[in-house]
Amino acid sequence: MKLTDEDNKNIQEWLEERCSNIRCHACGNGKWQLLDISTLQIGIDLHTTRFFYHGGIPLISITCMNCGYMMQFNPTVIGIKPDEPPKERISTET
Ligand SMILES: [Zn+2]
Repeated sequence: MKLTDEDNKNIQEWLEERCSNIRCHACGNGKWQLLDISTLQIGIDLHTTRFFYHGGIPLISITCMNCGYMMQFNPTVIGIKPDEPPKERISTET
């Protein structure tokens, strides 16, 4: 899910209204940055044991400007409509 400029504005207003005193759980810093890429799903390839990312659960993510700790919010609660995932054709034919 890629955020538009309007999404960014709405998210920042929403966070300021409800969570204006967020402190980093790791270092106590109060400066955050909204991340542009907001969908995260991690899988693991059992053959190579490498992690991979693909379309998954949309999240609104902010990161601590001091230590990089990340925090996620549900976009639906904020009022951000996630992108529709691409339709996959499912067949039961063999
Ligand atoms: Zn921090």
